[in-house]
Amino acid sequence: MEEKEPAKKRQYIGVWFDCCQTYGRLYKTKDGNFYVGRCPKCLRQARARVGEGGTDRRFFRGS
Ligand SMILES: [Zn+2]
Repeated sequence: MEEKEPAKKRQYIGVWFDCCQTYGRLYKTKDGNFYVGRCPKCLRQARARVGEGGTDRRFFRGS
């Protein structure tokens, strides 16, 4: 039996990882306060705050 997953879209933002000069994604956390993710190359953790204009911030730069 095949069951389709409910349309549960995870919100994410595309980000630029300075560390490896590459793009990646940060996914919204359950509480909706942050976007979290990892650099696809070096797996460095990144986090961006939602709100305070943060949601429009497309390019997060890892420090
Ligand atoms: Zn990296």
